[in-house]
Amino acid sequence: MKSVTLRKANFDRIVAQAEREFPFECCGFVIANDAVEEVRPITNIQNGKHAEDPIAFARDARTAFLMEPREHLAVMNEIDRRRLNLSAVYHSHPDHDAYFSATDRAQACSFDPGEPDYPDTVYIVISVRAGKFARAAAFRWDPASKDFVETELETT
Ligand SMILES: [Zn+2]
Repeated sequence: MKSVTLRKANFDRIVAQAEREFPFECCGFVIANDAVEEVRPITNIQNGKHAEDPIAFARDARTAFLMEPREHLAVMNEIDRRRLNLSAVYHSHPDHDAYFSATDRAQACSFDPGEPDYPDTVYIVISVRAGKFARAAAFRWDPASKDFVETELETT
């Protein structure tokens, strides 16, 4: 199983964001090519959606995230323009372990439940407990088992 490598400075940025946005989930992307690796934090608009429509959006941002669509699109456009890859999607789990939930899987496979939207992208989950970083885990799509499997996360 291939491991995932992230630059230490970028990993620290993601952890700092996860702690800052506690008790709510944070989210964002890591975009990269052979030369660069950059973090793009995205605003989690779940609380606003929950306030507007608590039936359709039953959960608030303590247990869910929804990316601000214009920020999301801007990153996709930047990837195209700069010929980068979407190397990781990350979010945090406030006061929960760093596991890949059924909801996480459903969000990652939004078009087809049997196939992720970005099969080569790694999904990173950051567990934050009482506002402090606890554990990070990375998950990669395994075509053989047709599921996400945990893979080693290294920082350099
Ligand atoms: Zn999650």
